[in-house]
Amino acid sequence: MRSCRDISALVSQELDKKLSLSERLSVGLHVMMCNRCRNFQTQSRFIRKAARRYTDELQSRLDNKS
Ligand SMILES: [Zn+2]
Repeated sequence: MRSCRDISALVSQELDKKLSLSERLSVGLHVMMCNRCRNFQTQSRFIRKAARRYTDELQSRLDNKS
């Protein structure tokens, strides 16, 4: 089984690129058993979404101006 360190690295990567099937499986299995990594994954996804919403908002304001 992979360590929490490995898993959190994969969770961060997952936000920017597609993980391979085996990587996704490792993450999936790990977060089923590990609260800390599950929380980390939830937070990372939340932050990612919030950041995207913020940039969308900025972009639409810029678009409206022109
Ligand atoms: Zn863990």
